[in-house]
Amino acid sequence: RRDNLHKLTTRLVKDYDTIVVENLSVKNMMKNHHLSASIANAAWGTLVSQLKYKCAWYGKQLIIIDPKNTSRICHECKQKNHEFNSLSQSEWLSTREWDCPNCHAHLDRDVNAAKNILAKGLETLA
Ligand SMILES: [Zn+2]
Repeated sequence: RRDNLHKLTTRLVKDYDTIVVENLSVKNMMKNHHLSASIANAAWGTLVSQLKYKCAWYGKQLIIIDPKNTSRICHECKQKNHEFNSLSQSEWLSTREWDCPNCHAHLDRDVNAAKNILAKGLETLA
């Protein structure tokens, strides 16, 4: 996995001048007792640390943003979906697609979050 991470981070840093990632807290993820989440988080930490030093090597920019609400805000209309507040953590984690109650956009959870993360990062440059 380490070799795959190296290939991935080298490709990302070579292909993009600016990379935006979420500052995911190890502590919060460890409170969650799902083993897969802990493993995924360990890989995430390694990925971010590789991005940090490789961006420095290649003169690229890494922006690390606060993950607050990046999954819950609709990237189309920028409204937060408050319907998620009533879900349990496992219900929330298993929600892969959703419809925005405000603008009715049909959203893929990961794609929507990625667009919010990029927008949030680019705001810091303005
Ligand atoms: Zn919307």
